[in-house]
Amino acid sequence: EDVVNRIAAGEIIHRPANALKEMIENSLDAGAKMIRIQLRDGGLKMLQVQDDGNGVAYNDLPLLCQRFATSKLRTFSDLQNMTTFGFRGEALASISYVSANMNVVSRTKDSEIAYKASYANGTLVPVKPGQSSDPKPCAGSQGTFITAEDLFFNVPQRKRALKSASDEYAMALDVVSKYAVHYGGRGVGFSCKKAASAMVDLSVPSSSSTTTLDAIGVVYGSKVSKELIELQQFNNSAYGTQLRGYISSPNWNARRSVFLLFINNRLVDSPALRRAVLALYANILPKGYHPWVYLDLHIEESNVDVNVHPTKREVHFLHEEDIIEEICTKMQDALTMANN
Ligand code: ADP
Ligand code: MG
Repeated sequence: EDVVNRIAAGEIIHRPANALKEMIENSLDAGAKMIRIQLRDGGLKMLQVQDDGNGVAYNDLPLLCQRFATSKLRTFSDLQNMTTFGFRGEALASISYVSANMNVVSRTKDSEIAYKASYANGTLVPVKPGQSSDPKPCAGSQGTFITAEDLFFNVPQRKRALKSASDEYAMALDVVSKYAVHYGGRGVGFSCKKAASAMVDLSVPSSSSTTTLDAIGVVYGSKVSKELIELQQFNNSAYGTQLRGYISSPNWNARRSVFLLFINNRLVDSPALRRAVLALYANILPKGYHPWVYLDLHIEESNVDVNVHPTKREVHFLHEEDIIEEICTKMQDALTMANN
């Protein structure tokens, strides 16, 4: 209980893209190799994520949407050594609170059958009216299939702050795109589509032969991937950091500025690092040109500040100024070499 008390304010799901990010991270935590996503009305009518991960055991289903119920955190030191994405046990609870209904079908490796459960306001509700609310056996393959319906139906002030369904869809697809780049090169496949459409908007296969650059090409287009410079892995033993990535060359103009930052395999934002990188490009790019940057940074877990803003995912880390300066130097060197 101390643990939960130390955790800053409750996680708030602002829009479908936030909810989707949490669900993708849960699938990745569960070891999924393929993650399929479908949205209806930009995720407002329906947000669906299907994975082939470890699944949720029957006995754990009642707790799935309970606030602070997590299988990933036991002690405060675990919290400091955050090795998985989830660490609060609040995401599914929050999604369940802001949606009319959440359906889960899940099957673990050891189970012959899948179970289906429905949730509202964090607790189990009957899958069909008149039934008990216990999870019911059903057919299903290994993994977890979560469908959230009518997001924000009961939160009018949040609903008003949302953009159009197509803008919300674009934001959700943006989140999937970033994960597909980072994990596509690590054997995890992704697909994303509108439920009503036959067309798949993003499709990265689950394959160990897909490289990060392949994934970038599939997601952002080969026009982008062929203009990128590889940032060779660089280790700083003093700070315990490792950096690699792909960055656009100094005479190429991306359609818009793209900045993908993963720290310890989590999609995060570091406003200080983002500002420094954009400033570096502003110095060398012709006016009106935009950079494309993907940074895959590893920092010793104990040096990353976990007291992050729950929705913005802003992180801070020890020796931030020095580390940022070093990253910029490495980028500058790579850009200068590419220009010669
Ligand atoms: P957290 O990820 O912080 O633990 P969540 O609310 O995101 O909290 O999820 C609660 C719990 O539900 C997780 O700890 C995990 O045990 C289980 N869970 C959620 N999604 C999945 C999934 N796709 N596959 C397997 N287990 C899941
Ligand atoms: Mg989670």
